[in-house]
Amino acid sequence: MSFDSLGLRADLLRAVADLGYARPTPIQAQAIPAVLAGHDLLAGAQTGTGKTAAFALPMLQLLAGRGGRGRLPRALILSPTRELAAQIGEQVHAYGRELPLRSTVIFGGVGMQPQVDRLRRGVDILVATPGRLLDHVSRQTLDLSKIEILVLDEADRMLDMGFIHDIRKVLALLPKQRQNLLFSATYSNEIRRLADRLLDQPKVVEV
Ligand code: AMP
Repeated sequence: MSFDSLGLRADLLRAVADLGYARPTPIQAQAIPAVLAGHDLLAGAQTGTGKTAAFALPMLQLLAGRGGRGRLPRALILSPTRELAAQIGEQVHAYGRELPLRSTVIFGGVGMQPQVDRLRRGVDILVATPGRLLDHVSRQTLDLSKIEILVLDEADRMLDMGFIHDIRKVLALLPKQRQNLLFSATYSNEIRRLADRLLDQPKVVEV
């Protein structure tokens, strides 16, 4: 199995080759074609499996293919911690370096204003922790009404950290018509309930 057979565009293939990725990991091999085809996804994957590229590469391709450099974010990746959010942001940036898409990371514990400035300049892909995301919404420095793709990364950790209410609030702010990707290392009843509510006929990937 090579990256070439997954349906990714040449600029993304160059980016992964330059990062030294020789072949897709199992989660990437399964998830990338499913996401490119527009499916919702339920993915059981631990960290270290290459799950970030499994959602970031097809997400970048879908957004780039739809063109438009609007001001409002079209993809939202929710992460439980700022460390993970920052890592995701770095990977999205590295994979998308040849694409005309802008991404930014917002999390708590740092000043609002630099984040407000970046949001105002326009962002296609937003990586965020739930609390700070809702802070921006309540201050009207962020509008989530154009989100086309939602990723919940490490959803089990987000629930463990008590973010379910924040996640529900975020979901209520998003357009109904969108693609949803849920990644979780474990499946509790709570995760199943969230998946049932969030996902529409998802492709299920387990690694
Ligand atoms: P993740 O599970 O997304 O946190 O990724 C774990 C690490 O694997 C990251 O440092 C990635 O850069 C790296 N990685 C992701 N996909 C591949 C791949 N196909 N080949 C080699 N390394 C990869």
